[in-house]
Amino acid sequence: MDEQDRAARMSSARDHVDQLAALDVAAVALTFVDTSGITRVKGVPLAAFERAAGWGVGATPVFDAFGMDDSIAATPIANPAGDLRLIPDTGALVALAGQPGWAWAPADRWTQQGEEHPGCARLLAARQLRRLEQTGAVAKAAFEVEWVLYRAEEADPVPATTGPAYGMTRLMEVSDFAVDLLRALARQGVAVQQFHPEYAPGQFELSVAPESPVAAADTAVLVRSTIRAVAARHGMAVSFAPSVAAGGVGNGGHLHLSFARAGRNLFSDGDRRFGLSETAEAFIAGVLRRLPALLAIGAPSVASYQRLLPSHWAGVYTCWGLENREAPLRLVTGSTGEHDQTANIELKCIDQSANPYLILAATLACGLAGIEENATLPEPVQVDPAALGDDERAALGIDRLPTDLARSLAAFEADAALTGAFGPELTETVLAVRRAELATFADATPDQIIAATRWRH
Ligand code: GLU
Ligand code: MG
Repeated sequence: MDEQDRAARMSSARDHVDQLAALDVAAVALTFVDTSGITRVKGVPLAAFERAAGWGVGATPVFDAFGMDDSIAATPIANPAGDLRLIPDTGALVALAGQPGWAWAPADRWTQQGEEHPGCARLLAARQLRRLEQTGAVAKAAFEVEWVLYRAEEADPVPATTGPAYGMTRLMEVSDFAVDLLRALARQGVAVQQFHPEYAPGQFELSVAPESPVAAADTAVLVRSTIRAVAARHGMAVSFAPSVAAGGVGNGGHLHLSFARAGRNLFSDGDRRFGLSETAEAFIAGVLRRLPALLAIGAPSVASYQRLLPSHWAGVYTCWGLENREAPLRLVTGSTGEHDQTANIELKCIDQSANPYLILAATLACGLAGIEENATLPEPVQVDPAALGDDERAALGIDRLPTDLARSLAAFEADAALTGAFGPELTETVLAVRRAELATFADATPDQIIAATRWRH
């Protein structure tokens, strides 16, 4: 980071402060997402925002060792000596419609000496994106958000709706909340594409337009905090947890990715199957062969594995398919005539206990490794892989994804593409935090895991 960058950020902050003051904003929330997927915050009054944009606000490196239950993993990373600077991205600053008087900006974590903190997930995502851009590809991404709406935050919560899955009745039951949410998101400049009741009791989903990948991860953070804030104003509570009822359908946090080169969509304009280009195929293949390791980042909690059940639209077998909702990698083409606009790959086996910046960085690292390896895809799977017999799956080379976090962690630790991209410090952090959570839940029942996870993310 040089002095010119600092001056530019402070000048941008000054411009924003005037606009925010006119909107009666009093304070700015600066957030980062930790290793366990929790969004952590430091607030500054509006008058202190310019200085924060230039010099950052203090943040202990111990945050890297936090678990989702606020325990601190016993690892050398959790050193109470030292300080980091939390520096907001002024370009992403937004006045919060769901929290009047507040604005929000995602922040990066730098050292006091002006170096990128190796544990900063947002800076890592930006670095992986730059690697992809060196291939000439311009990426777009979007995260889907699923959640269960409850009447109140209590030990045995009651879903806020009784209507059927995808039912109009269910939408009517929370009509005021839903319209307030859509209005708040529109005022915050979030381009919502769709909102609907989902399958599980009280479950809803919201999807947004694709944008530059780091901005897409920012949007995921903003959308989730807006949903929670608007629900709270309606006296309701929200769970983004991977699993909310043992054996039931969970909340996914699917990632959509597409690349263009010279303005042409590499997922629709190529000479491989379904219009994939060589680059897009190699990228998907690189992710496919690393799915078990990727789960350590994308399904990072013990609870994640209660969601990852066959035939629950979560995608739990190592395969890909065209529009196959049981494939962890679902190629989406859209309708004939609009493929260039719509074709993308959807990664389904991930949830919202994942840090969206880390999952972006990890997916890009896996895909880039595929491009370097000239990886090719096996045959697509166009049925529910759970419906095939063991022998047929074995013949097609389809395996079950890891059924617990310990297995995903072992695959992550052994994967050079991921650990290489993450670097030794962040790799160690990921392992330490996940192992601590495994130890916490070593003897827990599924219901205890759900209860301990339900309100955390
Ligand atoms: N709720 C499902 C999941 O856990 C996803 C449903 C869908 O495909 O939208 O990922
Ligand atoms: Mg859904």
